[in-house]
Amino acid sequence: MNLFEDDQILEFQDTIDKWITNSVTPNHPSWEKQGIMPRQVWCEAGELGLLCLTQEEKYGGLGLDFRYSAIIYHQLMKAGASATAVGFAVHSDLTANYINHFGTHEQKLKWIPDMACGKKIGAIAMTEPAVGSDLANISTKAELVGDQWVLNGQKTFISNGMSADIIVVVARTEATPGKPHAGISLFVVERDTPGFSSGNCFNKLGLKAQDTCELFFENCKVPKENLLGKAGEGFVYLMKNLGIERLGIAVMCMGQALGAFETTLKYTSERKAFGRQIASFQNSKYKLAEMKMNLDVGYAYIQKCYREFLEGKDITVSASSAKLWASEMSSKLIDDCLQLHGGYGYMDEYLISRLYRDNRVQRIYGGTSEIMKEVIAKSILSN
Ligand SMILES: Cc1cc2nc3c(=O)[nH]c(=O)nc-3n(C[C@H](O)[C@H](O)[C@H](O)COP(=O)(O)OP(=O)(O)OC[C@H]3O[C@@H](n4cnc5c(N)ncnc54)[C@H](O)[C@@H]3O)c2cc1C
Repeated sequence: MNLFEDDQILEFQDTIDKWITNSVTPNHPSWEKQGIMPRQVWCEAGELGLLCLTQEEKYGGLGLDFRYSAIIYHQLMKAGASATAVGFAVHSDLTANYINHFGTHEQKLKWIPDMACGKKIGAIAMTEPAVGSDLANISTKAELVGDQWVLNGQKTFISNGMSADIIVVVARTEATPGKPHAGISLFVVERDTPGFSSGNCFNKLGLKAQDTCELFFENCKVPKENLLGKAGEGFVYLMKNLGIERLGIAVMCMGQALGAFETTLKYTSERKAFGRQIASFQNSKYKLAEMKMNLDVGYAYIQKCYREFLEGKDITVSASSAKLWASEMSSKLIDDCLQLHGGYGYMDEYLISRLYRDNRVQRIYGGTSEIMKEVIAKSILSN
């Protein structure tokens, strides 16, 4: 089963799979122990053209469409390298993409080529300790003083937060009572900026090799030219990218679901109880049949969303449906797969155990399942 069937994408998928088998899978357990991926992985991925590949060649990218980045995250997730998939997606499809969409030619030239080769790592900082879903109500402030923006505030749960060199930060530039969306802007903050610091990595349920942490801005002085686009337009910019970001999460969920399905098919075909293959029990067969059906349905819908996106259609609502459906479906599917493994499914050395831990967050980040329902409901109801 493949996410896309085009020959060129399948060829690219082969290259990714070889890299995952040789360089990622054997090292992932040690990255999990360290709680972070080494920089060398980023450089290797950059060399192979796996970072920022949707960016134009003049900025170090390959000028490919978003199906090519999706296939990287899908294959990494399928193999259980979830932290790597999330790290790369945040770096390439979020951080670099914001710079590409809303930055000037000079800004793109300054930051994207270093991100494309893996020399510099990207992160996006929206969430704050008191505000996640209700993003318009952030309190991190940016004030223009002379030719610098002075940032004060705190961000939390930031993926790649410890390694990031280039951070797109969402901050309030204007108090707009009654219209909180209006006074928000995006800035690029570089790690060595005075007044910027990051906290320790959080201990998490899953994504153990992901460096998720807090970021602090204390009179952090950012050059005036690091504002992305226009002041006050930040919220609109965030909304513009949400479709492709959420579709990316749906793809990752499908990767995890496929990985779980394949490993469970193999396990239940080999393991025996009562003198029979586990897979031969009616309950197992029906569960596996349901999984196959869900995978087929999910891929068909996601392929449709990508077609529409590449045709330039607005996918805000369909990507929310894809994220909601794929995250909820994969969560149930992986739970069923773990059950079919019996006690071995609870052991760390089994892929299904890691998929179970790593999948849970898919229903939370990038907008929770409840927020996805809000988006869909808004599109069908007038109030
Ligand atoms: C591992 C991980 C990585 C992350 N990476 C990043 C990152 O790189 N950058 C970043 O900026 N953020 C990141 N986040 C933050 C993530 O996007 C937020 O956690 C998420 O948006 C939810 O916000 P919250 O945690 O504040 O929950 P809250 O907004 O406090 O929500 C709590 C509960 O209330 C529900 N709720 C809230 N509002 C409504 C409503 N209107 N209707 C119904 N129910 C509602 C939610 O669905 C949820 O169930 C990450 C989070 C995690 C766990």
